[in-house]
Amino acid sequence: MKIKSAEFVMSNSDVAKCPKNNIPEYAFIGRSNVGKSSLINMLTSRKSLAKTSGRPGKTQLINHFLINEEWYLVDLPGYGYAKVSKSAKKTFQKFITQYFALREQLVTGFVLVDIRHKPQPVDLEFMQWLGENGIPFSIIFTKADKLKPKAIENHVEDYKNILLETWEEMPNYFITSSSKDIGKEEVLEYIDSLNAN
Ligand code: GDP
Repeated sequence: MKIKSAEFVMSNSDVAKCPKNNIPEYAFIGRSNVGKSSLINMLTSRKSLAKTSGRPGKTQLINHFLINEEWYLVDLPGYGYAKVSKSAKKTFQKFITQYFALREQLVTGFVLVDIRHKPQPVDLEFMQWLGENGIPFSIIFTKADKLKPKAIENHVEDYKNILLETWEEMPNYFITSSSKDIGKEEVLEYIDSLNAN
């Protein structure tokens, strides 16, 4: 997919105020610092469409970007940031769960995880919650430039082993690096294929 246009539409913390039209949307979420903003900028070939986080945990908003006047890329807040207060975490959980549970335009979610780390409870719990609620999602492994191919394979295998304990299939997954421009076409082609359905 060629990105012809990418424009910011709106930010808010209330799913009821998200765009009301029926444009299909794709939501990106992951732990703070996972590389979400960098990935969004890579996918859209824009240097700073999503603000790379100087202060993780700060932007607790649902951000809609319109791509090619055809689909929304939705940038959701990073989760699991230690310095956010308990009450902020609760508010966050509430609007994120509301977003995923209520947003009918959502085609699929992309859960970002840093390929360097072993599967983390906070990510696994979130994937489990999506699965239990029948919300489709793919996994995007980020920062693949940081590991050798064999280590990448092993880390993906760790996820497979854990997820296949409870599920029949491993979700779709993508190996990406925003620094090395890896995985961009695969993710965009996947979105394209879903848009065509
Ligand atoms: P966000 O908080 O999830 O939006 O993460 P950012 O995109 O702001 O990135 C967090 C940090 O990871 C920054 O220091 C980035 O430079 C770095 N980073 C992001 N993507 C990559 C990547 O693909 N490779 C490497 N090596 N570093 C990355």
